[in-house]
Amino acid sequence: MVFEKLLQKLKKGIGTDDPQYPNRFLRFYHHNQGRLLKERKSLYHQKKEKGICVRCNKPVIEGIIFCEYHQQKQVGYNKEAREK
Ligand SMILES: [Zn+2]
Repeated sequence: MVFEKLLQKLKKGIGTDDPQYPNRFLRFYHHNQGRLLKERKSLYHQKKEKGICVRCNKPVIEGIIFCEYHQQKQVGYNKEAREK
């Protein structure tokens, strides 16, 4: 049937040469996910080096990566996590 052949052609068209991914949408997602993650990591390190809180943009307390406000919050999170 002509229609079935057309359908198979379309299905082939959606796939990619890259066997790692079932389709080009997933491949796009994976590639961009890696790039976004890298950007986020580099920003974290930039802030750390400059002495800026990684959660907001206030100066950090010496020796830690958070400002006073976020340090307090972090203490709260840790306490909660231990109690569970
Ligand atoms: Zn902060």
